[in-house]
Amino acid sequence: MLKGKTAVVTGSTSGIGLAIARALAAQGANTVINGFGDKSAIEKERAGIESEFSVKSVYSPADMTKPAEIADMIKAAEQTFGAVDILVNNAGIIRRAPAAEYSAANWDEVIATNMTSVFHLSQVAGRQMLNQGRGGKIVSIASVLSFQGGIYVPAYAAAKGGLAQLTRAFANEWAVYGINVNAIAPGYMTTDNTAALRNDVARNKAIVDRIPAGRWGDPQELGGAAVFLCSAASSYVHGHVLLVDGGWLGR
Ligand code: NAD
Repeated sequence: MLKGKTAVVTGSTSGIGLAIARALAAQGANTVINGFGDKSAIEKERAGIESEFSVKSVYSPADMTKPAEIADMIKAAEQTFGAVDILVNNAGIIRRAPAAEYSAANWDEVIATNMTSVFHLSQVAGRQMLNQGRGGKIVSIASVLSFQGGIYVPAYAAAKGGLAQLTRAFANEWAVYGINVNAIAPGYMTTDNTAALRNDVARNKAIVDRIPAGRWGDPQELGGAAVFLCSAASSYVHGHVLLVDGGWLGR
């Protein structure tokens, strides 16, 4: 379905990003994986994607809070593969503290990583797609906290709300050029990001009790939504935030 396409997936050295990079590669896309972590573990994942799915995969260590590194990563992807067809804005962090004690440093770091990076990435990759003149796909990973305020995560909720608005703003301008800009809002998924919540017995119970599906989601369960939004199947879908949340928000 995505054979010959080039996909850049930020923050794909673990969790949701890695699951999405693998889902896109499984459909034939060459991938740029990105993020931090143990170099040999990252190389194992990169090589695994190539051998398992018969595609090319390269790793970029670029820091998504640094606009110059973002620009270099997109340029390198274009030079390596000849084009950039798909961008998945997934890199993200979370910092938890009560609102009265939430530090300015935490605020700045979360806004830079989870929202400002999405502006820079979408702009740079979108310019590339506009120049290529054959459309493209931009998918950002939002959250149920694009719609709700959450508890102890004011910067995260603000960033994810802003990301949903950025999705609509870019879609309004670029839909006419065949560039689909959309977002996926996952519910509660089992990744490093949410380990602290799962380890808190009371919070874990409160969360699971409220999820209509009755369980946490597996990152692999976002693969189908990502492939849909990165493929021709979503050609008339623009500015949409697709919930994949086990029913959380409907409750
Ligand atoms: P994770 O911690 O497993 O993965 C985060 C990834 O982002 C890692 O690869 C990390 O190296 C990378 N990263 C962090 N800062 C970066 C930076 N400055 N530059 C480049 N890469 C950076 O967490 P996850 O749960 O897989 O989160 C992925 C995305 O999904 C985040 O945007 C998160 O907000 C979002 N999300 C997660 C959940 C959940 O329940 N896990 C729910 C909704 C949304």
